Amino acid sequence: MYWDRDIETMDRGKLAAMQLERLKKTLTKAQTSVYYDKVFRRIGIDARDVKSLSDIRRIPFTTKDDLREHWPYGFLAVPKDELIRMHASSGTTGRAIVVFHTAADVEAWADVLARCVYMAGMRKTDVFQNMMTYGLFTGGLGFHYAAEKVGALVIPAGAGNSKRQIQLMRDFDTTVIHIIPSYALHLSKVFEELKLDPVRDTKLRMAFIGAEPHSEMMRKKIEELYGLKAYNSYGLSEMNGPGVSFECPCQDGMHIWEDHYLVEIVDAKTLEPVPDGEEGELVVTTLVREGMPVIRYRTKDLTRIVPGKCECGRTHRRIDRIKGRTDDMMIIKGVNIFPIQIEKKLMEIPGVGNNFVIILEREGYDDILTVKVEVQNEVFTGDLRPLENLRKRVIDELKADILITPRVKLVEPGNIPATEGKAIRVIDNRREQ
Ligand code: AMP
Ligand code: ZN
Repeated sequence: MYWDRDIETMDRGKLAAMQLERLKKTLTKAQTSVYYDKVFRRIGIDARDVKSLSDIRRIPFTTKDDLREHWPYGFLAVPKDELIRMHASSGTTGRAIVVFHTAADVEAWADVLARCVYMAGMRKTDVFQNMMTYGLFTGGLGFHYAAEKVGALVIPAGAGNSKRQIQLMRDFDTTVIHIIPSYALHLSKVFEELKLDPVRDTKLRMAFIGAEPHSEMMRKKIEELYGLKAYNSYGLSEMNGPGVSFECPCQDGMHIWEDHYLVEIVDAKTLEPVPDGEEGELVVTTLVREGMPVIRYRTKDLTRIVPGKCECGRTHRRIDRIKGRTDDMMIIKGVNIFPIQIEKKLMEIPGVGNNFVIILEREGYDDILTVKVEVQNEVFTGDLRPLENLRKRVIDELKADILITPRVKLVEPGNIPATEGKAIRVIDNRREQ
């Protein structure tokens, strides 16, 4: 039942002692990076000044902007030749957030994620089809190595190509899948088109779903459609990717592995800690990463600690499913998109006006992103060709940047109502399913 019983059921006192020891090591290492050396000097602190876990509050938060501004190597705490792997967060082209790993980091990540999938019930007898993008994103290679560690037969299917996914599942008797929840719903439609029934016509028994927010209802729907158990998997590239927290068979919150990650939940406005049970922003510190330690990272994800002990016997605390974000990041088909990316691209295209709005909708099981954008008067000549060309260009340029094909509607100036104060850039009409 346990991948590592000693760690998973560790007495909380011992766990805290282990955390403190690892935190001290992490801070000492971090201090050798360009970024933290600068921060520690600025606030007049030395790694050795941290004597208790709560002392971490003396160190400022780290944000996505800090990572971006010190791109690419400002957070490195080892010489570059110690690194063996790079990953990047989903969604952005150009200056994506990059994270670097040493051999020990890759090993530790695979180990903690193996712990997750083993906890949910995957074994060496399983056939595991990994339907996440391989490459820079963390969901592909991350799960790949973890599943191999458990000894399952891994099918590195990658994302997309629905018919082929179904064929692989049927040809090789796949029992476990890793899939984005919205794609799982979409794929069930493809089963239908092929006159197949995922319950009757596959051997699926378990799914790991993550990378985007989803409701309990959506989980239940996936479980029903496929006749399996679906486990919530949470992670973010800055903290390696998947493996930060994961559901156990109790499906009542996700255990967050406190020997690898130091967790704080803070009030999103005051940034002061909130008591267990109360909702706030998740802040995480790496405790075992050597290549690129990150301290007090503001995930911008809203959640809470599930109070009380879990029936499975594991002592690591649980976080609730992610309730939303404290920034305007949208997650569409598992890809992170900020409205500012769309704005920047639009403003570079001649003929595009000053105002735009992003509308998110759900059609069937698919998320649709529509950009309604004002174009300059000159484009409206009565000839439709320049308009159509502009529309195509907007689609192509946005797609190259956000990796999703948007729908684009061009409108005349004045057609997007101006709002008082901060412009409303996103209208989210997706309803919970
Ligand atoms: P990335 O760094 O590209 O892997 O994206 C990480 C972000 O995806 C997180 O900060 C969350 O906002 C979101 N995310 C990942 N897993 C989940 C999950 N299980 N539930 C809700 N949101 C998730
Ligand atoms: Zn549990």
